Amino acid sequence: MYSKESLEALRERVNLVEVISSYVPLKKQGASYKGLCPFHDEKTPSFTLNKSDSHYHCFGCGAHGDAIAFLMEHVKMSFVEALEYLSERFHVPLEKVQAEEKGPNKKRLRLALDKAARFYRFFLLHSQEGKEALTYLLGRDIDLGFIERFELGYAPAHGSMVYQLLRAEGFSEEELQQAGLMRVQANGRRRDFFAHRILFPIRDRMGAVIGFSGRKFKEETFGGKYINTPETPLFKKSQTLFGFSYSRSRMARDQVALVVEGQLDALRLIYEGFDYAIAGQGTAFGEDHAKETLRLGVKKVYLAFDGDRAGKEASIKVGDIFQRKGVEVLIVNMGEGSDPDTFLREEGAEAFETLRKNAEDYLSFYYRFLTEGQDVSSPAKKNEIVETIAASVRAWQQPVLVHESLKRLSELADVPREALGSAGSAAPRVSLRRSSALSPSYVDADRVLEMDLLRWLFLFPDPESFPVKVIGKNITSEDFKVPACASLFETYLSLPYQERKQWLSLATHLKKKEEQDILNELLRKKVNKQKVEESVVASIQSLLKR
Ligand code: ZN
Repeated sequence: MYSKESLEALRERVNLVEVISSYVPLKKQGASYKGLCPFHDEKTPSFTLNKSDSHYHCFGCGAHGDAIAFLMEHVKMSFVEALEYLSERFHVPLEKVQAEEKGPNKKRLRLALDKAARFYRFFLLHSQEGKEALTYLLGRDIDLGFIERFELGYAPAHGSMVYQLLRAEGFSEEELQQAGLMRVQANGRRRDFFAHRILFPIRDRMGAVIGFSGRKFKEETFGGKYINTPETPLFKKSQTLFGFSYSRSRMARDQVALVVEGQLDALRLIYEGFDYAIAGQGTAFGEDHAKETLRLGVKKVYLAFDGDRAGKEASIKVGDIFQRKGVEVLIVNMGEGSDPDTFLREEGAEAFETLRKNAEDYLSFYYRFLTEGQDVSSPAKKNEIVETIAASVRAWQQPVLVHESLKRLSELADVPREALGSAGSAAPRVSLRRSSALSPSYVDADRVLEMDLLRWLFLFPDPESFPVKVIGKNITSEDFKVPACASLFETYLSLPYQERKQWLSLATHLKKKEEQDILNELLRKKVNKQKVEESVVASIQSLLKR
């Protein structure tokens, strides 16, 4: 919960034109700005905002909202992420109401990492020692534009320069350790965590540096090819997707992702215009990574892993994670011994795009992989292969997908469809809607019902709108069972119309954390605005029926 004063200060400072123009090209026309609407397809601009206004409006599709709404809808930030983003961007610090002094101060850790990143970059570009690393990078077709865009750096071979620099700036040893920037040697000496390596910043989904991936470029350097920042309060390997902050907006817009193995692969792809590429973090791409991807609404995933056996096995494993969740998986085949970085450098972006367009569907890839070099005229062998694939297909959640996939498998393997069982032969299971997979595992029916009702109010703030009139006439706060919903309802209706339309303003009136959580969830769910009347009436009836 943030203090009312700081939220109000933020509201005054936010410049909507500035926020939106980072995502949507705008043209100035008199006192207003126009652009192509990001919420619907159009050829002539009908997306409009006025210079001093806090709202945008689209005359084509009716999209309407403030900076928070834009960041939530277009960039898919959560409510709190949007607040924090605006706070940083417009330099208005948000004050927490109850300052909880538990755990490390993440803001301080981020600040330390940011300073370290600047130091490392400076050292790469402007020091005698950095020259060697720079030459190495240039030799691998990583040009200055690339280095600037992704803010690559160089950690000097010896010593503790970052340690000294940050200590001098007032950071404690504990903070440096928690940020993953310091290591303590056996003799008690403090050293920088990274030495003699080229550093790629690892970022959180908002783009803040939370760690580094250090690549060795000389044989004599101690340790493996890559060393990552250890797990810290900021950096959680299993949840961090490399490249995510650069790719999230396109992933959300086109509902597509391109998953690769190497961090350099991801950056190279993004740099070449495939700005929906992401990579796991040193380890394999796992369940949590997939969840993070699906949160953006991704429906189709391309996998471009290395062409060797390990890469193919990884494709099958990662592909299965997505297929299981009903996401279409396609495999980009770059050929034996290649990876996206090498391929792009040697063949260029257009060639890669051609490969992407010709990507192979998951099942065909899987079948081809298992039958390669095998004698499928042997019934036992064929049975084994087909059963292996059929078993994983039956574990996918969507019954229709299972059905269709088994059909496809029977064609690929040229076996009768009946031999593979049916979707029904797997234990029947009700597929969960994607959004509910993210919410708490229990479902509180009262809360859901009351939130549905509130959502309509929030979407149609106009006092003359159908929801406000009908709900106002039929429902009072007494009809609610969830206290936070009741108070949100009261707060909302007590606000003047102008303020109801502004999420930021509304946030200043919330009294409890629970209310903020509810508001946050309310705004996430998409509803069909065409059906407003029947939906509102149905909600009211269910609420009263209780
Ligand atoms: Zn529009």
